[in-house]
Amino acid sequence: MKNLKQELQNGTVLGDGGYLLELERRGYVDSGSGREKVGTGRGSGQFTPEVAIEHPDALRELHREFLKAGSQVLQALTFFATREKLTRAGYGSHTEDINRAAVRIAREVAGDRALVAGSVSRTQLFEREGSSAAQHAGDLFAEQIRFLQDAGVDFLLLETFFHLEEMLIAVDKARQTTLPIVATLSFRPDASRAADGRSPAECARVLADKGVDVVGANCEQEPSRMLPILREMREAVAIGIAGQPAAFRTTDATPCFTRLPQFPDDLESIQVPRSEFASFARVAHGEGINFIGGCCGANAAYIRAMAQSLAFA
Ligand SMILES: [Zn+2]
Repeated sequence: MKNLKQELQNGTVLGDGGYLLELERRGYVDSGSGREKVGTGRGSGQFTPEVAIEHPDALRELHREFLKAGSQVLQALTFFATREKLTRAGYGSHTEDINRAAVRIAREVAGDRALVAGSVSRTQLFEREGSSAAQHAGDLFAEQIRFLQDAGVDFLLLETFFHLEEMLIAVDKARQTTLPIVATLSFRPDASRAADGRSPAECARVLADKGVDVVGANCEQEPSRMLPILREMREAVAIGIAGQPAAFRTTDATPCFTRLPQFPDDLESIQVPRSEFASFARVAHGEGINFIGGCCGANAAYIRAMAQSLAFA
């Protein structure tokens, strides 16, 4: 593995799957559902990544599984690892430790066989406070991105942003490094626009103009419902397109799994089979979507199915 831009020039890059939900199933991550309503953005320590310092072997093992399945990218588990979110979970003073440990563990497993992505996700401040959170969010991103860069990630993966406005703040901070940037939004509550009303094509154009290397979508929808979003982006811009869908069946009325009543404790009842990811990989690859992986619910079996599918593409 050399670098992301080179790998994308060589062909389609296969990413990995979802970490937090898989580690929650294995008992190492707290969903928060035992004490509060999950999915509001107001919760305390829901789905935070302290597993990186508390159970590093569990995280290491999941990285190993993805690598063995064929992942060419390992995401450091730094999702929801900004200081404000970790403080709500009681881990604020460990913010730097968690970010550094997550990158170190991913790197140990990746060696020179996979790229390590530093994950930066939405802060949840925009859901709670709107645009007035801009300055605070920017400060949090700047701090986390500094930790990730110092720890030695190969590129930044800005992911699971609901608001384009908040994504643009993260992009500005990421652009202060020399690292390649992959920027993927999550489209909810409506699968045809971001939370601030922008269409996938508009989001792609704005982000491409900002200089990101790859734009795309991750999480919330299953492959079949995400594919139209990715197609719209593919038609809108000439840069790389990333698609990392969730492995849960959504509905026309609620096209995002985190708003379904099955989230977070009954997700097994809406799990989609790995074969849908195998088909998705084949179709997406054929349409020029060149960074393909999974998000929540996609474990190593899903990645292996996509790897096999892409080998025959
Ligand atoms: Zn996800």
